[in-house]
Amino acid sequence: MLARMPLNEYRAKRNFSVSPEPRGKAPVRRKKDLFFCVQKHLASHLHYDFRLEHDGVLLSWAVPKGPSIDPTVKRLAMHVEDHPLEYGEFEGLIPEGYGAGIVMLWDRGTWEPLVDDVAAALKKGDLKLRLDGVKLKGSWALIRTSGGDGRSWLLLKHRDEWAGPLDIAAFAPTSVKSGGYFTDIIEEQAPAIWTSNRAAKSAPGGLRKIVERAIAITEEEKKGALAYARAGGAKREATTGASKARSTRRKPGASGRAARSPGAKGRPR
Ligand code: MN
Repeated sequence: MLARMPLNEYRAKRNFSVSPEPRGKAPVRRKKDLFFCVQKHLASHLHYDFRLEHDGVLLSWAVPKGPSIDPTVKRLAMHVEDHPLEYGEFEGLIPEGYGAGIVMLWDRGTWEPLVDDVAAALKKGDLKLRLDGVKLKGSWALIRTSGGDGRSWLLLKHRDEWAGPLDIAAFAPTSVKSGGYFTDIIEEQAPAIWTSNRAAKSAPGGLRKIVERAIAITEEEKKGALAYARAGGAKREATTGASKARSTRRKPGASGRAARSPGAKGRPR
């Protein structure tokens, strides 16, 4: 299932003359830290694409509800085709075809396997890993489930100082690349669509529904952030790892009191 057929399936699904997504070069093997990212993808369904650099490509799982930093919550993660490494920095509008919609770079950073042999762990269906992203950090696992056609996995957070009872997707909904919401991405990358179709009345083809949903989702997210601030959440979370996620300027590997998560409170160190 995870045999290397680098990027054939990825390319076959796309028409690069209409999509701004990268075609991808030959797999790139690098000697530095391994890259990971999560792309929030508003297509026919909103989902989060979780990607880990391995063997020169990005292993990819589509997570319908997005990652959760609450260790009691396991999130379904559907294994999908490998993506090119360059895809990890992609953010933008896919006007038509496969995955048509909006891609937001929701988190990015580096990852480290907590197993000796990643290929063996993938084959076994049990990959323990450590993330060092802007929003997601600490120890995680990807576990293949017995059901389905072998593409179903669970993404889960282990208990550590980066875990806590916080809805990270709602708390930190915006891009780590541009800082914006879905509507900001449309406005920035397709100003013509945005200004001429404020109410999404005549956005081209399949994008019309997407633009409408982007507006609705962004409104909800802004309302959520407001409600959160009113409830005093902003103050409480000021000392959490998750709130550090809001700042892309923070130093990686920050530690100490300010970096501790809500889950860490009340537990012995
Ligand atoms: Mn996707």
